[in-house]
Formats: sequence, C-alpha cells, structure tokens
Amino acid sequence: NRRIVLASRPVGAPTTDNFRLEQTAMPTIAAGEILLRSVYLSLDPYMRGRMSDAKSYADPVAIGEVMVGGTVCQVEQSNHADFVQGEWVLSYSGWQDYAVSNGSGLIKLGMQPTHPSYALGVMGMPGFTAYMGLLDIGQPKPSDTIVVAAATGAVGSMVGQIGKIKGCRVIGVAGGEEKCRYAKDVLGFDDCIDHKADDFEAQLASVCDKGIDIYYENVGGKVFDAVLPLLNTGARIPLCGLISQYNATELPQGPDRLSMLMGTLLVKRIKMQGFIIFDDYADRYDEFATDMSQWLAEGKIHYREDLVQGLENAPQAFIGLLDGKNFGKLVIQTNQA
Ligand code: NDP
Repeated sequence: NRRIVLASRPVGAPTTDNFRLEQTAMPTIAAGEILLRSVYLSLDPYMRGRMSDAKSYADPVAIGEVMVGGTVCQVEQSNHADFVQGEWVLSYSGWQDYAVSNGSGLIKLGMQPTHPSYALGVMGMPGFTAYMGLLDIGQPKPSDTIVVAAATGAVGSMVGQIGKIKGCRVIGVAGGEEKCRYAKDVLGFDDCIDHKADDFEAQLASVCDKGIDIYYENVGGKVFDAVLPLLNTGARIPLCGLISQYNATELPQGPDRLSMLMGTLLVKRIKMQGFIIFDDYADRYDEFATDMSQWLAEGKIHYREDLVQGLENAPQAFIGLLDGKNFGKLVIQTNQA
C-alpha cells in the first residue's frame, strides 16, 4: 500500500521535497467496514492551502499525514451491508492506494459507471463550483459579456460553456496559444486571450468592446488588473479562486491600489462575492447534477481530462497545476480498474 504524505510545509512554490512516498502494510477491515482501492485521484488548487498552516476555511494537513483529496475508488472488500465488492464510489481517501471506510460520506457511482472519473470533474466539485458561482452569484443575462481565466481548466471550461448555454458572450483568458485555440474551437468561446502575451491588457480591452458584465475570478493578479477598468456598471464578480497568489510569500510590489478598487466597486455598483462550494451550496447539488447530465447527454458540454498515470507522479503533477502545466481537469490514475 503506497501513500504520499506531507513531509514539510512549502515556502513559495511547493517542491517534490515537500512530499514523501511511503509503503505501509495493507489495511484490514473490521465488521461494518469497507476496504477501498483508489483508481482515480483528483488534484485541485485548494490542496496548496492544505499544505500551509495559515488560517483558512479548512484545517491544514498535519506533517506526516496523508495528503487529502477526492478519489474514485472500487470496493475491494466489504463487511458493510450497503456495499458490495467491485462497486464504484466517490470518496475522500486522499493520496494513497487503499483506505478503510465505515461508509459515511461515500457517494455510490454504481457497478459499471460509463465515466467513473467524471465524478471528480465535470459532474463533481469543479463542475458544481462553475455552475453555482456563475448562475447564483454571476446572474447571467443573455448578451452579457463574461470573462473567465484558467479558461481551459476544470472550473473555467465549465463557466464558459454554461455561459454560452445561457446566451452570453464569453471571453476566456488562458496561458498559451494552444489553450486559447482549444477554448475557441472546441469549447465554443467567442474569444480567448493569452495572458502571457506582451500586449495582453490591450488585447483584452479590444475584445471586450462592450465592457465586462461578469468577471468569474479564478486567478487574481494581473488578469484582475486588466479586467478592473473594463467592468460595466452593475457588474458581478463571483470570487472563486486566486491561483496566481497561492504560492506568494508576500504582498505584490507597487503602489497600494485598494482605494482604486473600492472606488470602482462604489461608483459602478459592482457586486463581488466569495464562496466555498460545499460550505455554501451543498444543498443545491441535485439541481446542478440534473442540468449538467442533461447538457452532457445533449453534447452541449465538452470535457477534457489531463490524466497522469501513477500515484508516484502526483507531486510533480500538482506542482505543475499551480504553474499552468495541466491542460484540462488534472486527474491521477492511481491504479487500474
Ligand atoms: P485548473 O484546472 O483551471 O488549473 C489551474 C490553472 O490555473 C492552470 O492550468 C493555469 O491555466 C491557471 N494558472 C495557474 N497559475 C496562474 C497564474 N499565475 N496566472 C494566471 N493563471 C494561472 O484548476 P481548477 O479549475 O480546479 O481551479 C480554478 C480556480 O477555481 C482555482 O483558483 C481554484 O482554487 C478555484 N476553486 C474554487 C472553489 C471554491 O469553492 N471557491 C472550488 C474549486 C476551485 P493557464 O495555463 O490557462 O493560465
């Protein structure tokens, strides 16, 4: 049984030294318990927060403990009346091969799900985040202009596609030409701007010629700086994530622009609202699942996974996630089905 534990807390960007791969004895189960064997592990930006002991909405992972994470597992052995060997479940068993569960918190995925790993992406936490942030906080109206960064990622790709379904004009922001082309050609965004381009700000202003009604915030930093002057009166900003800051060790250099930000929010009556998906919207998952499964069945939603083989490659893949190396929802295949 392999497991990856947090070896030390990162200062700045994580390195592979912050993680340690360990071999442990196979866990055994008691009456009423299940042995889970992980097949897919989700890697998500929030894990950077769990590696840090700064105060947040959730407790940090302790040094020497298994890294947390959503997984799709098969039941390997069952001493539990509600679970049978071979069935698939969505779990939160973390960066390890095997885990013991008493069944609580597990979500059943059936004996032969068509796409088991979708429960970690389009049908799971990231898809749900995109849906609630955009629809509940963003309140899109047809012909609104939406801007979303990390546009080809797990959340951003869904924000943009749901925006198109709702009749909006969608502008993506992504790192590099290939991701931008994919956002336009496959995801159907109206345009997508490369944030690495020298004239990024000017390009964004030129495609947002009617201003921005919804800025779905995933990244912060220079993308937010470019968006701020383009926001329309009454604009909405679902504040979902700030990935460009997750590795930061200090505030950015330069003049303090807080008063400019607050002045813009005031005179343009802009609503900016943070949210944490399961804390704020857990009771609305069914609404999302109904809509998303229908859109998938109708071919209205494209979903791209960046599938990396092998639990041992999780640290490197996670480090890359914080630096735009992933292309689509990052998932580790920990074991074969
Ligand atoms: P993605 O699949 O989008 O992967 C992260 C992407 O972020 C990278 O591929 C990269 O895309 C982009 N990125 C990384 N560093 C920077 C940077 N410095 N500047 C600009 N872009 C950068 O991840 P997710 O879809 O899983 O998450 C997207 C955001 O949503 C994150 O901020 C995450 O924390 C947040 N989130 C919030 C939740 C909530 O409940 N509030 C729940 C789930 C996610 P590119 O190469 O295109 O720049």
